[in-house]
Amino acid sequence: LLITLEGIDGSGKSTAIRHIAAKLKELVPERTLLITAEPSNSAAGRILRSEILRESTGELSFAEHMEELFLFMADHARHLADTIIPSLEAGAIVLCDRYADSTAAYQGVTLKGIVPDPLVWIREIYRPWNLRPDRTLLFLLDPQLSVQRISSRSGREKFERQEFLRQVDGNFRRLASLEPERFVIIDASLDEDAVAESAVSSILEMLT
Ligand code: C5P
Repeated sequence: LLITLEGIDGSGKSTAIRHIAAKLKELVPERTLLITAEPSNSAAGRILRSEILRESTGELSFAEHMEELFLFMADHARHLADTIIPSLEAGAIVLCDRYADSTAAYQGVTLKGIVPDPLVWIREIYRPWNLRPDRTLLFLLDPQLSVQRISSRSGREKFERQEFLRQVDGNFRRLASLEPERFVIIDASLDEDAVAESAVSSILEMLT
């Protein structure tokens, strides 16, 4: 069973995943649980974390945008082959913090103006080889609140960040509307326990 968690920065996925893991261990102790995340620890994932995702100042070039997109895809391919698929084959429940949908949502914003409809284009690139999650929990939170949660930065930068996340949020909603049967919407404005509870109940539904 492959469950992915998606949402904008500050939507609380990483906190929720710890609560979810604790509850699942209690409720289904017989099942092995793998908690993982993207970018993963592949070579591409390490480059993303050490070099690409550091707060960049200024506009990125075409080449930098493409480099970023294909590093995310390379990381996803390795993560699938090396970690996710072997764990699923061994019968584990796999919880993955970000997955291909993040690439469609985030790079779907950064590649605007470079390709006509980047979200659809990215989905097309993934389609022939990607593994479809059984469920995707989409943590929805007003970008203004998420920016308040994550940053104490001020002024223009903060606004730009919020504007960026608003577009990413729009992309996640669009992805959910394209595949409503896969997505479960989680109200991430609720408190930690309530968020974890609704996530766990939708996972348990899949197990029965
Ligand atoms: O999940 P986490 O917040 O650790 O992700 C790290 C960062 O990578 C996020 O802030 C997000 O902005 C970025 N990211 C991205 N494109 C992806 C996945 C993550 O820009 N496909």
